[in-house]
Amino acid sequence: MEAIKHTKTCVVGVDISMETTTYAIIDIRGNILVQESFGTLDYPQIDAYVASLCDRITDMILRNGGYEKVRSVGVCSPSSNFLTGCMENAANMPWKGVIPLAAMMRDRLGLAVAVGNNAHCVGLGEQSFGSARGMKNFLVITLGYGLGSSVFSNGKAHLGCDGFSGEFGHCCIVPDGRQCTCGRKGCLEAYCSTRGILQTARELMEESDKPSRMRLVESLTPKIVASFCELGDELSIETFRRTGEVLGLGLANYASVLNPEAIILTGGIPHAGRWLLEPMEKSFEQHVFPNIRRKTKLLASFLENEMRDVLGASVLAWKVKEYSLFT
Ligand SMILES: [Zn+2]
Repeated sequence: MEAIKHTKTCVVGVDISMETTTYAIIDIRGNILVQESFGTLDYPQIDAYVASLCDRITDMILRNGGYEKVRSVGVCSPSSNFLTGCMENAANMPWKGVIPLAAMMRDRLGLAVAVGNNAHCVGLGEQSFGSARGMKNFLVITLGYGLGSSVFSNGKAHLGCDGFSGEFGHCCIVPDGRQCTCGRKGCLEAYCSTRGILQTARELMEESDKPSRMRLVESLTPKIVASFCELGDELSIETFRRTGEVLGLGLANYASVLNPEAIILTGGIPHAGRWLLEPMEKSFEQHVFPNIRRKTKLLASFLENEMRDVLGASVLAWKVKEYSLFT
């Protein structure tokens, strides 16, 4: 008699970020059934980190219906490469070098594990559950501490031959411009990330002696600058206007190459709303190739940031071949 095959309806999604690691059991429709987290920096050694993460995942699976319903694991982590399964030289993480994260986790969990970088997972989350639902050709831009991006073409993520495609934040937008964290100068990220926006704010305050609420705040954030825009603070409005202008120019170049149906903006910064988006759209339409002018939708993501990363990781989990020691 043939063995009854159980249909596995869930996967585990893991989001490893600098401070927190979040892991969840998620069903095929994107419902988060259970979610837990711990401090990433509690484990400065990668072996101890992976051991603890896998113990916690196993424990969560056993407490919530067991292995019968969990198919595989997807991991969203910085500088991780879907093609190699490795975390490769992640600049801001405590673990250095090339770490075979997927293989280390698979050996401990006995489940197939796929890893992907943030931009890749964010894109998958938007495609399955967010603003890009039903779209085949689109770009996802994450604006926060850095500027990440992913390219989807004919319904699939374009990863590039080594898995590093989408480093849009490190395209030069101002020759010999601001110093970027990547070691080069004038990258888009140096103008449009959190750090870039705050540098623009500082430059504006130095350029003039106009009064501004920004002058009174010791540690400024883009969110505070946005709140000052609401109060009509001129230098705050100008900070986002300049940011939007540069971002719109960069996106116009990107769209002129790829002709996407939409560009979806995610991360913390798009919450600045119209103060950023209106100058960005104006600059975009001004600089984009005329045949695609007014045809590209510029959308802000409606998914919550933390939720979107584990959801994206869960989509990645469905893309990896099921693993078993016994077949
Ligand atoms: Zn750079």
